[in-house]
Amino acid sequence: MSYKVIKISALIGVLFAFVSCKAENTSRDEDVAVSHTRDVFAMDTYMNLTAYGANGEKALDDAEKRILQLESELSATSETSEIWKLDHSDGEAVEVSEDTAGLIGKALDMCEMTYGCLDITVYPVLKEWGFTTGDYRIPETPRIEELLRNVDYSEVKLDGKSITLPDDMQIDLGAVAKGYTGDEILEIMRSYDVKSAIVNLGGNVQALGKKPDGSEWKVAVRDPFQPETDMCVLEIDDSAVITSGNYERFFIGDDGKKYCHIIDPSDGYPADNGFVSVTVIGKSGVVCDALSTAVFVAGTDNSPKIMSEFADYDFIVVSDDEKIYYTQRIADNFKNISSMPAEVIVID
Ligand code: ADP
Ligand code: MG
Repeated sequence: MSYKVIKISALIGVLFAFVSCKAENTSRDEDVAVSHTRDVFAMDTYMNLTAYGANGEKALDDAEKRILQLESELSATSETSEIWKLDHSDGEAVEVSEDTAGLIGKALDMCEMTYGCLDITVYPVLKEWGFTTGDYRIPETPRIEELLRNVDYSEVKLDGKSITLPDDMQIDLGAVAKGYTGDEILEIMRSYDVKSAIVNLGGNVQALGKKPDGSEWKVAVRDPFQPETDMCVLEIDDSAVITSGNYERFFIGDDGKKYCHIIDPSDGYPADNGFVSVTVIGKSGVVCDALSTAVFVAGTDNSPKIMSEFADYDFIVVSDDEKIYYTQRIADNFKNISSMPAEVIVID
């Protein structure tokens, strides 16, 4: 690592199972402490929503509808989605919904601010590796080079709700859609005057306020080397905790190497730049989601310059040599329960 290490702490602790948000189901009389929960399967992932208080159930009904609406607009693999329409537009302008235009605009900003480590136009390369179908293969290098000629987010033209992609270019919002969805769900909760809520969208946790008893939410992050156990526990309120890891979707090639579903747009190969997992903690779910993917791609050498530009966000990265690095600000709210050493990152 190029990070300067100022403190080392290695704690060995009990191992919890799975990423979990431990929302307590108290059933006291006060409405504020009554929990309402909902399981939804959407965006290829299991989602669990918990809202406290009198309006919880109504908020969950609206949240579920919103998830299904966003899924139908944003899925790159569904032939009825707006993204599909864009990806098959043969260079013609396409009019999309406010959601889709807004999220593409935000994603393009994040592509720029992460020096192209995030690039929503990497989709054809992702498909070539078989990550959209599960029909995995290691493509020939000339094929990757050919596809990379059409990977360049700066070629996506956004004019209000009208979007134009060059012919042969395709996008997917898989790196940011869940974070955006989490933000939208919490906005719905707020509109119903829900003060306390937590949602888990396939391991992405986003919390509104504190727990009804006034304490912080405890959120566990998986150990990328043993994904069935937890690596650390964070105490947070009003924040998102979003992780990208090489254990989420991957295959082992005939060469014995592990290939994961996050593509490095600089070479068209699954990112393998020193990190096996990246967790981002901060206010905006969509920014955390974009950053978790981008910092994973940036790896050891290039992540400090991205992190330094997002000083309001905290990071926990796990390197491929089994070390945890975390930003100083979360030191008091971060408990390492793995056997890996954990060190504070200081970015010069
Ligand atoms: P997950 O969806 O598992 O939580 P991520 O948020 O890291 O993980 O998103 C990974 C998804 O983002 C991939 O499945 C793919 O759709 C897309 N993707 C992969 N590499 C990139 C990249 N470099 N830039 C933008 N999107 C990417
Ligand atoms: Mg992401």
